[in-house]
Amino acid sequence: MIRIDSVSKWYGTFQVLKDCTAKVDRQEVVVVCGPSGSGKSTLLKTVNGLEPFQQGAIVVDGISVGDPATNLPDLRSRVGMVFQNFELFPHLSVMANLTLAQRKVLGRDRDEANERALLYLDRVGLKALADRYPASLSGGQQQRVAIARALCMDPVCMLFDEPTSALDPEMVNEVLDVMVSLAQEGMTMMCVTHEMGFARKVADRMVFMDQGQILEDVPTDVFFGDLAGRPQRVQTFLSKEL
Ligand code: ADP
Ligand code: MG
Repeated sequence: MIRIDSVSKWYGTFQVLKDCTAKVDRQEVVVVCGPSGSGKSTLLKTVNGLEPFQQGAIVVDGISVGDPATNLPDLRSRVGMVFQNFELFPHLSVMANLTLAQRKVLGRDRDEANERALLYLDRVGLKALADRYPASLSGGQQQRVAIARALCMDPVCMLFDEPTSALDPEMVNEVLDVMVSLAQEGMTMMCVTHEMGFARKVADRMVFMDQGQILEDVPTDVFFGDLAGRPQRVQTFLSKEL
């Protein structure tokens, strides 16, 4: 579903991604972790064309992201993305947040968009809050709305960038629970997260990044297994996390 092939990217003279290769198969969950500043967010943003890259190739559901002929808005409408800071439209109700792109981008009529919105709001346990505005919701509720909004677009895969790291601790689980159920239903997911409990539970593979490089891309049980012979950076990271 997602193939990242020898991708390098520079911000001016600073190389932020160094020859990164990774893939996410259909219905697979890949968790990307690593120290702050290692390029995780940048890698995720290159996948749906939010950040350009200078070398390599990325193909998502058969669409070449770096190809100038690719319609990036169309690609983004098929790839769900959930950020750290919710990014809901503050001036729109929950319902309007969930229906806007369905109507403007997918051309759905009001009834169909509303029906879809209520279906996914119910999925994340927030049907009762359809008429509220984002500012009146908790962080955990806002993030669940953001996930529901992405699902309304019938994404072929979902990208998550530290979706729980801006939340108060008591709200982390309500968001992770939604992500776990999505994973169990077979959604293809690429998740940047420090939630190693979540990773152990649902990840098929773990990607570890450091200084713009992918140092490891291994099955989850291998990642959390024997530390012997592993890159020093991975050992340091795991000894802090576990
Ligand atoms: P992570 O998500 O792993 O914390 P990022 O992908 O956000 O890392 O950032 C990787 C590196 O790229 C960091 O050193 C960061 O300072 C740098 N960086 C991120 N965005 C920009 C930008 N727009 N311009 C220049 N440097 C950036
Ligand atoms: Mg980041």
